[in-house]
Amino acid sequence: MTNKRLQAYHDVLHRKPNYVEFDKKTSDIFGENVFHAEIMREYLPREAYKSMMSAANSGARLDRRIADQIASAMKDWALTKGATHYTHWFQPLTGATAEKHDAFFTPVGPGRAIERFDGELLVQQEPDASSFPNGGIRNTFEARGYSAWDPSSPAFVIGKTLCVPTIFIAYTGEALDYKMPLLKALHAVDEAAADVCQYFDKNVKKVNATLGWEQEYFLVDKAYFNSRPDLQMSGRTLFGHASAKGQQLDDHYFGSIPERATEFMRDFELESIRLGIPVTTRHNEVAPNQFECAPMFEECNLANDHNLLLMDLLEKTARKHNFRVLLHEKPFAGVNGSGKHNNWSLSTDTGVNLLAPGKNPKSNLQFLTFFVNTLKAIHDHSDMLRACIAGAGNDHRLGANEAPPAIISAFIGSQLSELLDKIETDVKAGKMTPEDKTELKLNIGKIPQIMLDNTDRNRTSPFAFTGNKFEFRAVGSSANCASAMIVINTIMANQLIQFKKDVDARIKKGNSKDEAILKELQVLIKASKKIRFEGNGYGDEWVKAAEKRGLSNLRDTPRALQVWGDKKVEELFNEMGVLSPRELEARQEIEFESYVYKLQIEARVMGEMAQNTIIPAVVEYQNTLIANIQGLFNVLGDKMGKEASDAQIELLKRISVHMNKMKDSCDLMLTARKKANNIEDMEKKAVAYCDTVKIYFDEIRYHADKLEILIDDKVWPLPKFSEMLFTR
Ligand code: ADP
Ligand code: MG
Repeated sequence: MTNKRLQAYHDVLHRKPNYVEFDKKTSDIFGENVFHAEIMREYLPREAYKSMMSAANSGARLDRRIADQIASAMKDWALTKGATHYTHWFQPLTGATAEKHDAFFTPVGPGRAIERFDGELLVQQEPDASSFPNGGIRNTFEARGYSAWDPSSPAFVIGKTLCVPTIFIAYTGEALDYKMPLLKALHAVDEAAADVCQYFDKNVKKVNATLGWEQEYFLVDKAYFNSRPDLQMSGRTLFGHASAKGQQLDDHYFGSIPERATEFMRDFELESIRLGIPVTTRHNEVAPNQFECAPMFEECNLANDHNLLLMDLLEKTARKHNFRVLLHEKPFAGVNGSGKHNNWSLSTDTGVNLLAPGKNPKSNLQFLTFFVNTLKAIHDHSDMLRACIAGAGNDHRLGANEAPPAIISAFIGSQLSELLDKIETDVKAGKMTPEDKTELKLNIGKIPQIMLDNTDRNRTSPFAFTGNKFEFRAVGSSANCASAMIVINTIMANQLIQFKKDVDARIKKGNSKDEAILKELQVLIKASKKIRFEGNGYGDEWVKAAEKRGLSNLRDTPRALQVWGDKKVEELFNEMGVLSPRELEARQEIEFESYVYKLQIEARVMGEMAQNTIIPAVVEYQNTLIANIQGLFNVLGDKMGKEASDAQIELLKRISVHMNKMKDSCDLMLTARKKANNIEDMEKKAVAYCDTVKIYFDEIRYHADKLEILIDDKVWPLPKFSEMLFTR
């Protein structure tokens, strides 16, 4: 019998890198496949160009005639790039992106055809939406969903297709995607932040949220991937013993990138650059065969589109290079998982980063205002932050000594901690004397522009201030960043609106502007104190200390998702105009459902692999041992045969015990799964899967992994961690 695994090993060893020919400067190709502002200026009449720019920057409506002109220009440009089809590119709640391709080619008479793309086709389409998750919003009999153009994100060409970024909504107007609520949250924070900016600079008209993501992923050779049903079906290995050499030597981080992986990266980076994604850094991560890609930050909506595009490019390019990319948060138990840090800040149309300390007391007061308001927003809504990063995959990572814990807290560094403490004690309740004010101003003026303790950054914090932005580290590698960005920008908008009200009220009562701001900041600093944590977030002591502080520790996805059912959360989203109660409820339902499906698939695959892959291999080896033992008895006789086969008999027994236990746990899991499947209510079903089905995973795996190290390497049917992680 040929062993698929050994065949795969052979294939991998003989693979050569797939060289990418390229002789241009990277800067020459940057954005060449994007219909960006400069191209538009070239292709569009003046008036249409101006309308397009104001639609892109401030959401102004475009009339039909202009839309026709834009569509026609877009098409002409796309044809020069070799495009034959167009598609509305959108972000359904499945987590991936979706597209439905239509040809430009339109027959217009006998033997005559033109390439057609007009305003109507650009602005709206009606993809068959019945197969996308909708959480009950759209009954299948009214399976209509619309995709509508988002002019704030430029169209691009991939392969032979012009892709138009769009939102995706139900016939009844509710969002069925991530982009629409993200755009609304960005709008809310823009207005609220621009309002607060008026205290400091009347010229600010618009505030953009910025996002810089860092995407981690694993590469595995396609031959290994194809011989592991668990990787194929669930994106992670459900079985597999840790390899003798793991990441304990820490020799992979920033290590040299092996040639095949380098060629792969070169290829997908060139493609990304052509699509205007400003990828710059490339390095190895902590685990073997784990990598990271982090572009320059951009405006949040665009950055998020770029992340989704990049995830897609990673997949496609990996296949070309005989790799498969794993975006799962924890593909290999016992090996570092993958996250996607979301670096977030706010930046004005006057070019100021509102979370960067400035040169003087005035700009620093502005910085402090936004900084402290962020802390207060995080403090008040930490459960929402926890919920927005929840998912079956991320559950394996959070709190596993490599990723931040499920407890949300914020790290700000010693200098800022001291300053906040000073404001807390030094700002006087009544009228402040001129000396008090000068003293405070001096302190505020002293915040260094480049934060010194940038270097003593705390890597264990889920939400850390890193000098000129906050870094949300708990986001999972497979997530759509919009989930986190919707929450952060919405709670920030809400907080800033409240802040503006309270400061205005103080000014009305006779406080000077600066005094009013400082006094209000003092209130916020006091009220948000418990969210600040500078210590080790990975330690067990923190779990206890956090509980004492009253911080929640929602350890699993079903518990975390319950937050979306909270009345206050519903009101907040509704008031900020980001999600209606119906939309929020639908999203919660979809997430419970997705959690259940993922666990259901894992449970099934586990059962099947145990039964059809592992047990047969074990039996085969048992037979070899039995034949050997019988042979020894035959040849040597009872007494000597017994002595000579001691080790084999012992091994045979151990193998049988593990196999039986594995099988028993599989049976128990099956019973639990059947019971859970009968539960109608999605939330209860998710809880049942978490508490009664998932608990068998570790047990089953434990015995299977023991078998892996006990039986003959030649008959073990699944590629081992050592092979998948170390052979390239
Ligand atoms: P790390 O040490 O976490 O690997 P770096 O500090 O090098 O990361 O990376 C920071 C990330 O933050 C980069 O992706 C960068 O684009 C992003 N970033 C920098 N400034 C901002 C900002 N103002 N807003 C959002 N993201 C930012
Ligand atoms: Mg980072």
